[in-house]
Amino acid sequence: MRWEELTSDEFAEAVVECGRVCVIALGVMERHGPHMPLGTDMINGHYICTEAAKREPAVVFPPWFLGQIYEAKCFPGTVTIPPTMLVELLLGIFDEIGRNGFTKIIAYVAHGGNNHLVPFLAQAQLAAPKTYQLYVFRYSSAMTDKQRARWREVLETDGGGHAGESETSIMMAHRPELVKMDAVGERTGRRQGRMDHLRGGLNALRWYADFPEHWAGDARPASPEKGKALVDIQVECLAEYIRAVKEDEVAGQLAEEFFRREAELRGPTGG
Ligand SMILES: [Zn+2]
Repeated sequence: MRWEELTSDEFAEAVVECGRVCVIALGVMERHGPHMPLGTDMINGHYICTEAAKREPAVVFPPWFLGQIYEAKCFPGTVTIPPTMLVELLLGIFDEIGRNGFTKIIAYVAHGGNNHLVPFLAQAQLAAPKTYQLYVFRYSSAMTDKQRARWREVLETDGGGHAGESETSIMMAHRPELVKMDAVGERTGRRQGRMDHLRGGLNALRWYADFPEHWAGDARPASPEKGKALVDIQVECLAEYIRAVKEDEVAGQLAEEFFRREAELRGPTGG
């Protein structure tokens, strides 16, 4: 169920019907090679969520595009906001989802540049007790070996990390009019390795050093058929996770135990 399409009264019912589970795809607004739209991660991420929520009911938060993307600031159309504001904003959005009655929030990391940010936000949940639990979902860790094998079978390349075969195929599967394959020609987003002398560490320009056109991978073998097969795997994987989160009682119980022990450190108050 899409949050923005429900009436206020329907929304209240949906929260209960969905077991108080809300899913938000954390996308971004950034260059995706020469052929894919700026909102690729937001568009694909939100689509996967809405399809997964059809298999395992959950309320899907409206399309979201504010995330960590400073490394694409030098390209037209990127949207960044100050880093501390971004953290406050996302924590505020989670609280706002919780205020609307959800006790479980799934943050689906639909943009690789958020790979450091979102787990930090999850850990920051222990700063103070909440009325909800935050669960971070990433395909890299959520896919089963079988799903991973199916994924590899579909692709001719390694998929590419950004606007490559996999991401381009997925967009072709549901929004083909947004993919401009003419702009690809014989070009690829080949890794440049300009910071390979510093491998093992992290510098803010690492990604830019490797992919100066903000494009990682080979989009040429992409096709809508491959995209449909990949979407099916992603949707299945996320739907399974929504189900597991819905059934989970451990996170809430542990949070209670954890904060009770923390309160005991402070000793008896007042009286
Ligand atoms: Zn992307």
